[in-house]
Amino acid sequence: VGARLGALTDAVSLGPAALEALSGWGRHPVRSGHVVRPTRLAVPGGTSPLLARGLGRAYGDAAVPGSTEAIVIDTTRADRILAFDLDSGRLTCEAGLSLADLLRVVVPHGFFPPVTPGTKFVTVGGCVASDVHGKNHHRDGSFGGYAERLTLRLADGSEAVCGPSLERPLFLATVGGMGLTGLIVEVVFRLSRIESPWIALETERVGSLHDMLAGLRASRDWPYTVGWIDGFARGPALGCGVLMRGRHASRAEAADRPAPRRRAHHVPIDAPSWLLNPPLAQLFNRVYRARHGRRHACRLVPYEQFFYPLDALLDWNRLYGRRGFLQYQCAIPLAAGAAPVTALLGRLTRRGAAPLLAVIKDFGPGSEAFLSFPIEGITLSLDLRYQGPPTEALIDELNNIVLEAGGRVYLAKDAVTRADDFGRMMPKLGEWTAVRDRVDPHRRFRSAQSTRLFGDPA
Ligand SMILES: Cc1cc2nc3c(=O)[nH]c(=O)nc-3n(C[C@H](O)[C@H](O)[C@H](O)COP(=O)(O)OP(=O)(O)OC[C@H]3O[C@@H](n4cnc5c(N)ncnc54)[C@H](O)[C@@H]3O)c2cc1C
Repeated sequence: VGARLGALTDAVSLGPAALEALSGWGRHPVRSGHVVRPTRLAVPGGTSPLLARGLGRAYGDAAVPGSTEAIVIDTTRADRILAFDLDSGRLTCEAGLSLADLLRVVVPHGFFPPVTPGTKFVTVGGCVASDVHGKNHHRDGSFGGYAERLTLRLADGSEAVCGPSLERPLFLATVGGMGLTGLIVEVVFRLSRIESPWIALETERVGSLHDMLAGLRASRDWPYTVGWIDGFARGPALGCGVLMRGRHASRAEAADRPAPRRRAHHVPIDAPSWLLNPPLAQLFNRVYRARHGRRHACRLVPYEQFFYPLDALLDWNRLYGRRGFLQYQCAIPLAAGAAPVTALLGRLTRRGAAPLLAVIKDFGPGSEAFLSFPIEGITLSLDLRYQGPPTEALIDELNNIVLEAGGRVYLAKDAVTRADDFGRMMPKLGEWTAVRDRVDPHRRFRSAQSTRLFGDPA
C-alpha cells in the first residue's frame, strides 16, 4: 500500500492516477499500472518506475508496465502541432499526436508522413521510440531518419534535446529505444510532399517464394512495395501470394478528386477462441488471394485503403479472443537468401500453426540507431494465436532459425523472446546500455519488456 500511495503522490502533477489493466495490441500479456493522462508531458519526482505509452499499438509488452507500482504516462492528450512550415514540410509536435490527426491536417496541404506503419492509430512518440518502418523502407529507411530534433524528459526530470548531430549518442539510443531513455516530449521531423491523396496501385499474383522475392527486388524503383503471403501454402507453392506496388498519384492522375472518407466499424465483443480456427483462416487466405490476385494495371485507390487496410475494422484484435495473439516479426539479412524464410514458413505449417496473416517487405540499409530493427534484407510478419507455453516454445524455434541466419526480431511486436537470444541478435546493445547507464542509471523508465529482456527490476 505504501508503494502504491507513493506512486499516487508522485503522479499529482500529472493529474489523477487510476490503476488500469493494460496490454499491447496482441492482448498478451496483461498487467496493471497507474495511468496518468496529462495534457503537458513531464516526469514526476520520486522513485516510482515510469513508462511512456502512446496508443498502445505495439503488439507485445513494450508499452506494458512491469508492476503495479509503475506510473504509465499516457501521452495521447499531449497532441498539439506546435509549428508547421508549409515551404519545407518541417513539423514540430508534441509526442502524443497521432498519425490519424496528423494526416487530417497535413494531407490537404500536400504533405505525408515520410514513413508510416500499417496503422494510423499510433503516436509520433511511438513512431520514434520504435523507429517504425513502412512499405518504403527499401527506398526511404525508417522514421528516425526524418527526425531533426527530439526533446526528452529524463528520469531525473531534466530536459535533454538531441538530434542527428546534437547529443548524438542519446539520439541513437532513443530512436528505436522503446521509451527506455526517457519520455519523448516533442519531435521535430520532415514530412514528404505529395500531389494527391490517391495511390497508384499495381497488384500481381505470385506463385512461389522465389517469385515473391524476385518481384519485390524487381519493384525497387516503386516507393512502396509489400507482399501478402498465403501462410497455408505448402511445397512448391510455399510463399505464394499477392505482390503490391504503389506510388503517390500525381495531381493530373487524381484530377483533383478528394479521397473519400472511410467509415470504420467496431468489433463489438471478444470473439470466442474457436472463431479463427485453421480451416476458416485457410478459407480467408484463399478468398483473399482470389480477390486481390488478379493482375491489375495501375488503378487509383485512396491512401487509407493502401496504407491502413486493417484500420477499417477498429478493435480487430478482439477477433483473436481474450487469450490474444502474437505478431512474430523478424528481419533476415540479404546474404542469408530465401532459405530462412522457407524454414520459418515450413516450421509453422508442420507445427499446425500456419499464420492467419503473413506479410513480407523489402528492407533497405538499416539505420545507425542502436536498437533500430531494420537491416538490409527482408522482413516477415506472422500473426499467431497465443496458446500459452506451446506458442512460446514455437517462437523459440523460430528465433533459432532467425539467429542462425544473422537476423533479429522487432521489439515493437515481441512479447516472448528470451533475453540471451535478443542479446545475440543486436550487436549494438552494449552502446545502447552505456547511454542508458548515463541517463537513467536506476532504470526508472522500464516496462514488462525491459524486465524480460534487459534484466530491469519489475
Ligand atoms: C495494425 C498494426 C500495424 C502495424 N504496422 C507496423 C509497420 O508496418 N511498421 C512498424 O514499424 N510498426 C508497425 N506496427 C507497430 C507500431 O507502429 C509501433 O508499435 C508503434 O510504436 C506504436 O505506436 P504507439 O503510439 O501505439 O506506441 P505504444 O504502443 O503505446 O508504445 C510503443 C513503445 O513506444 C514507447 N513510447 C510511446 N510514446 C513514447 C514517448 N512519448 N516517449 C518515449 N517512449 C514512448 C513506449 O514506451 C513503448 O516502448 C503496427 C501495429 C499495428 C497494431
